[in-house]
Amino acid sequence: MDVALATAWLRAAAGAVIADTDELTKLDAAIGDGDHGVNMRRGFTAVAAVLDDTAFTGVGEVFVKVGGTLIAKVGGASGPLYGSAFRAFGKALPPGESAGLGDLVAALRAALEAVTRLGGATPGDKTLVDAFGPAVTAFEEAVIGGAGLPEAAAGAARAAGDGARATTALTARKGRASYLGERSAGHQDPGATSTWLIFQALADVTA
Ligand code: ADP
Ligand code: MG
Ligand code: MG
Repeated sequence: MDVALATAWLRAAAGAVIADTDELTKLDAAIGDGDHGVNMRRGFTAVAAVLDDTAFTGVGEVFVKVGGTLIAKVGGASGPLYGSAFRAFGKALPPGESAGLGDLVAALRAALEAVTRLGGATPGDKTLVDAFGPAVTAFEEAVIGGAGLPEAAAGAARAAGDGARATTALTARKGRASYLGERSAGHQDPGATSTWLIFQALADVTA
């Protein structure tokens, strides 16, 4: 992945998140405070502007800058969580214009670790971790199996989508949805859904 692909991914992710603002907000209205779509739209609108205005020399730099932007612009739980994930992802990449598949696997692991360190969620808590975790595992397994980036990204997107859909049955144990207890079951988690959009964007730009 080079700077051009990194920025293409993030622009596609911004487009997808912004296009699905209403859907993400609707999901959050059911089990949270109804602002996830608006939070994500605000953050990724700022991300798109930063990508337009910055000349990047290193691929890791792109993600560190995006993470910082999300932390600064998004109120709510999702801003610091996604912001930390992108920052950790960028910091884990080697310096320079491009990163290899092994670098991407290590950086995805670092990003997932940052989210779990900050938010304390474990698999099954009905959070974005339930999409992110399976996506990272699928990406890693594809790379170990000899897949290239398009195939690994497609596998990650599929796993994130399956993970997001599987949150419907779960009872939330973290975040605002946990205040509802068992009444949170029967609704798909908004953050897991936006995580799926972000991995699907990578699959789309690498296909
Ligand atoms: P807020 O809940 O502060 O209004 P958002 O609505 O933007 O923030 O984001 C809600 C999403 O954040 C949830 O759907 C969930 O996926 C994710 N989330 C909340 N708390 C945590 C946590 N502790 N760990 C991981 N993800 C979390
Ligand atoms: Mg919310
Ligand atoms: Mg909120």
